Amino acid sequence: MEVKIYPDNILREKAENVKEIDDNIIKILNEMKETMYRYKGIGLAAEQVGILKKLVVIDTKMGNGSELIELINPEIIASEGIYDEHDEGCLSIPGYYGVVKNRKKYVKVKYLDKNGNEQIIETDEFLSVVLQHEIDHLNGIVFIDRMSRIRRTLFKKQWKKIKAKEAAKQ
Ligand SMILES: [Zn+2]
Repeated sequence: MEVKIYPDNILREKAENVKEIDDNIIKILNEMKETMYRYKGIGLAAEQVGILKKLVVIDTKMGNGSELIELINPEIIASEGIYDEHDEGCLSIPGYYGVVKNRKKYVKVKYLDKNGNEQIIETDEFLSVVLQHEIDHLNGIVFIDRMSRIRRTLFKKQWKKIKAKEAAKQ
């Protein structure tokens, strides 16, 4: 799997609910997990690999798999408070980090695990932000959309530089 890079149009699409957790879904989740680790990410939504299904993998420890969470049809069902301003990054916007406004501090997320059992995560830690970031992807939202207008303008300039640097390397 290759990660789709901003401004790829697929990042703007809405993902569909998974209706049946079959072998294909399990295979996609496994490949997503491998892709996330290969790119050294802490989260990956299926959209980012070009698949419009509500699937997300997260590992905030970025590595040995012990913290791996695989979410099918995740949905935020409650949220509260404001997470302090902080930098976010994204595998689809490599090399750029920016401050996102108004992330929630606490979220309660409902999802299905691989066995089709309903699970709930409640967190007010870093994982909360990762969950919001990944679930945004499923709705066609990337984190720069949530930055202030000034930061977005700066982003466009910086992104051009990042791309130019990359092009020079090749
Ligand atoms: Zn992302």
